[in-house]
Amino acid sequence: MQSYSLIAPGKINLYLEIIGDRPDGFHELVMILQSIELADHINIKANDIQAITLHCHHPQVPKDETNLAYRAAQLMCQTFPEVYANYGGIDITITKNIPVAAGLAGGSTDAAAVLVGIDLMWGLGLTQPELQELGAKLGSDVPFCIAGGTAIATGRGETLDPIKDLDNLWVILAKYRNISVSTPWAYQAYRQNYSNKYVSDPENIEIRRELVNSGALVNAITNQNSREIGKLLYNDLEKVVLPKYPLVAQVKSAFASAGVLGTMMSGSGPTVFALCESESQAKTIAREVRSATTQRLSFAETADPNLDFWVTKLSSSGIQLQGRD
Ligand code: ATP
Repeated sequence: MQSYSLIAPGKINLYLEIIGDRPDGFHELVMILQSIELADHINIKANDIQAITLHCHHPQVPKDETNLAYRAAQLMCQTFPEVYANYGGIDITITKNIPVAAGLAGGSTDAAAVLVGIDLMWGLGLTQPELQELGAKLGSDVPFCIAGGTAIATGRGETLDPIKDLDNLWVILAKYRNISVSTPWAYQAYRQNYSNKYVSDPENIEIRRELVNSGALVNAITNQNSREIGKLLYNDLEKVVLPKYPLVAQVKSAFASAGVLGTMMSGSGPTVFALCESESQAKTIAREVRSATTQRLSFAETADPNLDFWVTKLSSSGIQLQGRD
């Protein structure tokens, strides 16, 4: 039976501002989302047992219906029951390269790839907006992961406004293997501390969105001004995550001292990213920061050697079909 291989890139947040509460209980956000080349690989093929199966070797990735990729397949089966009955079940294999629970949309991009893959396998011919509408039912980051590139995301993060692609910069990602930040915890902690500043009326929400749309960071991206982009990175969630996880704050300071273009936590963390002009600069700085943080940690006697680094590039691609066999 034919199988489909897809590339599912991760993302970083160049900008994340929390504007206020929404009636549905989520936060009203303005973000600038950016795809990166670090990607999971997803393989999809039909089976004749009329069921969904999921394989993944990564110990932190669930293999049951709590996996977002599994839920994406379930959604397709529920939405197109006749096609499902006709084609049989679906085997999904995830090769996990994106760190898990890291603020890099790993689960969301796997789900996005499953939607795109099943659409191809079943010959549905869904448009990108139709796939994104299905994706929004699974999670706010899924619509962005389908399209990829560089985009302003508003609402819960599912309303997208693509801007000029930024794919000429390199990025270092640093994450402690033994630190995971719960996304619901981060938003709840932010609400507890900052809800007195929330804006809720539609007019003021629109003003805040417009400030980002016509603001300095979007302008710097449009002009591909790397230095300005580096200076203007922003993430409200750092205000609650960095004080609770001082090691994450230390990595960020180490990147800043090493002279990167800019450094910021991605999403709810704990991954910290740093933008660099070139691959060689990124590799050199990753080595420097690795040795700087190891020394400091061992002197503090809270040594944690579990700091992993990845060097990757910003990307203009969302889900891509790699091949079919
Ligand atoms: P986001 O940036 O969208 O908030 P994240 O990158 O922080 O997401 P994920 O890697 O998606 O986080 O993992 C969050 C949790 O979701 C994990 O702890 C894991 O149990 C669960 N999960 C479900 N499906 C997947 C998947 N396909 N890949 C990774 N984790 C998954």
